[in-house]
Amino acid sequence: MTSSPFVVDITDLLRGSTGTRPEQFVAPVEWQLGETTIVAEPPLDVALTLARISGGIVAFGTATATARSTCDRCLGEYETKLSAVVQVSLLFEVDEDDEDAYIIDSPRVDLEPIIRDEVLLGFPVRSLCGDDCVGLVDHPESDLNTDAHDTEATGSPFSVLRDLLETRE
Ligand SMILES: [Zn+2]
Repeated sequence: MTSSPFVVDITDLLRGSTGTRPEQFVAPVEWQLGETTIVAEPPLDVALTLARISGGIVAFGTATATARSTCDRCLGEYETKLSAVVQVSLLFEVDEDDEDAYIIDSPRVDLEPIIRDEVLLGFPVRSLCGDDCVGLVDHPESDLNTDAHDTEATGSPFSVLRDLLETRE
């Protein structure tokens, strides 16, 4: 048994008693990639349509999550809403040339790794707290800079900032 909140039972679809049906998951997750983390609150919201195809099903829809990240420019933490398109085939047998399909071996399918991949792939390559972020280095008088001189922690964004400032002096 799995404790994943993203398990679906597609027996009805495989039997053909249903052609398509919606499936929605709302669950807190804490997935991380690099400096970016999906926050648990508000929870990840996944709205999918499941449809029977030859040899399995397709699942398509949207996953909406809130991510916390560190701005590449000003080193500040910020939260942003992410939307990832999910579109995958779940097949009992996969042809060699169908690289996008996931293999399943049971009508009880845990979609967590699939949704996780799609959401993490949707992370922006460059993290900016806003398009208009000018960065701290251009604002040496800002409050964050003042705080940086009082912060002894090493490895924090502020220590990186302090190094930058000392280089300038
Ligand atoms: Zn920023």
